[in-house]
Amino acid sequence: MTHTNVKIGKTDVETTPLGLGTNAVGGYNLFPNLKDEDGLNLVTAGLNHGIRLLDTAFVYGLGHSEELVGQAMHNFDRHSFALATKGAQDFSTGEQVINNDPAFLTQQVDASLQRLNTDYLDIYYIHFPDKQTPKAEAVGALQRLREQGKIRAIGVSNFSLAQVKAANADGYVDVVEDEFSLLHRDHEADLMPYLRDHQISFVPYFPLASGLLTGKYDQDVTFPADDIRSQISDFQEPRYGQALKAIAKVKPIAAAHQATVAQTILAWYMQNPLISVVIPGAKRAAQVTANAQALDVTLSASDYQTIDAAFAAFKVTANGKSLADPD
Ligand code: NAP
Repeated sequence: MTHTNVKIGKTDVETTPLGLGTNAVGGYNLFPNLKDEDGLNLVTAGLNHGIRLLDTAFVYGLGHSEELVGQAMHNFDRHSFALATKGAQDFSTGEQVINNDPAFLTQQVDASLQRLNTDYLDIYYIHFPDKQTPKAEAVGALQRLREQGKIRAIGVSNFSLAQVKAANADGYVDVVEDEFSLLHRDHEADLMPYLRDHQISFVPYFPLASGLLTGKYDQDVTFPADDIRSQISDFQEPRYGQALKAIAKVKPIAAAHQATVAQTILAWYMQNPLISVVIPGAKRAAQVTANAQALDVTLSASDYQTIDAAFAAFKVTANGKSLADPD
């Protein structure tokens, strides 16, 4: 393994810079036709192949992802890996409402601990910001849970930079999880440098752009109407063609490292100084096993720059759009 472990924020939570996203482990409300057995095998494969951060959430299968992750991880020493989960979705009225109320978050942490069958969480994220709760009060509730030993690091997810600043008023925020990939570079100019300057870790989600950045698609891909990818702009022109052109430039670098495109792109994230842990998801154990090998891929400075430049069209310019977006 050539990539060294990282610490989360100012805490002593330690993990490999490659984690495992588990929204397809029991996430029946997000993906059709998932099998519990595949989910259990995914998590087992990740831990067997050296991945040391599992990223789940209550909303993935409304508790089912947490139950399956909890089941799979019990074959491993609990102190040998880090466990992250998230909450904020309140279904008490029958429909989903985002709720950051301190009492609700406190209750949610206890419910997650129970489903995961563990007595501490290495990271707990407020999954989405609500409109009404002052963010420092929401984080204050998590700080009290940290003092009780129930959580070790405090995270927020899908917060704007202004909301992160408000949440971190007392300096308690350790980690932010938000969308970022070589195709979605919006946070590169403001949020990510702010986090680095404040010793807050950044964990990007959708790093493989729902599989597009694995290099497995070619010019003629179509998805059925009920597949979410049929609506994602990355799979539509002009972004799709630009993405394929950029991926073509990664292929010779991958070949030189005897690596796949996915492993090469995951290595790029691990070498990005603004990124702490990259958490690709997977549907099958074989994908996890393959992705874990990215821990052995080290890019030269010139490879790193070539990949960065290949995706330059996806950087966001001063008008808030990227060159890959339609006019
Ligand atoms: P992703 O990592 O961009 O893409 C993962 C998908 O790519 C897999 O499900 C698989 O789909 C394909 N894939 C992965 N490895 C592959 C390989 N080696 N070869 C070929 N295909 C491969 O997207 P994601 O899983 O949706 O997101 C990552 C994680 O981020 C999630 O699991 C979740 O934990 C987290 N997340 C968090 C939030 C938040 O609000 N905080 C939101 C979204 C996601 P196919 O096999 O179907 O192609």
